[in-house]
Amino acid sequence: MSGMRILVLGVGNAFSSRYYSSCFALEAEGQWLLIDCPHPIRKIFREATQAAGLSLKINDLQATVLTHLHADHASGMEGLLFFYRYVLKTRPTLIAHADVAGKLWPGHLSASMECTIEDVGQPPLLHTPEEFYNWMPLGLEQPVQVGPFSIAARMTLHNIPTTALKIAAAGRTLGFSADTAFDPTLIDWLAGADFILHEASGGFLHTPYEKLLGLPKEIRSKMKIHHYPDRFDVEASKIEPVRQGRVYKI
Ligand SMILES: [Zn+2]
Repeated sequence: MSGMRILVLGVGNAFSSRYYSSCFALEAEGQWLLIDCPHPIRKIFREATQAAGLSLKINDLQATVLTHLHADHASGMEGLLFFYRYVLKTRPTLIAHADVAGKLWPGHLSASMECTIEDVGQPPLLHTPEEFYNWMPLGLEQPVQVGPFSIAARMTLHNIPTTALKIAAAGRTLGFSADTAFDPTLIDWLAGADFILHEASGGFLHTPYEKLLGLPKEIRSKMKIHHYPDRFDVEASKIEPVRQGRVYKI
């Protein structure tokens, strides 16, 4: 078992002017998953892979997992999907819960993606989401398998439907809180993972860093934080904050 590693693409919360929004690329057995997709994802991805010394391209991704539709997690989908359709000429796989995927097209993408005009004076051609991506539903009962990754999900306490994740591959498990208010039952669900990535945004329906400090040492010792505000003192943090452009072994 060679384990997994995670490339940190962005660490900031929704209001950050210092960092890209939180998103990650997870690797096992040479295959990569994108976790969340803020704009401008291809620039974010390029900068992080270069910083980490990885010769990885966006089309090397096996699939994208979308936890929810807030812009700091999903605003890169339009650019990513247009790039796949018109440059790569293929459809990526999107993994998301039905409550997330169900609003991705009508509530988020269709305004800019549902029609094209092939030439001046021609009538618009209407498009469907199936032309742009292959949706793989993320259920709460059974994990979804994609390549080496087994992906389990749980709804979090957030303003809109949002899924936390447990992703197992190569003998290791990543626990990913996604955006959530502090939730001891979610912590229990994540506790068996080898590496827990928890948000620490603070504010409305998010988790304050101070709440995580109160967790038992055995949880904190395998927890790292992300989605932190610009003012957060990463040097003084008692729980290790992940850094943009770095790779962590899971
Ligand atoms: Zn959110």
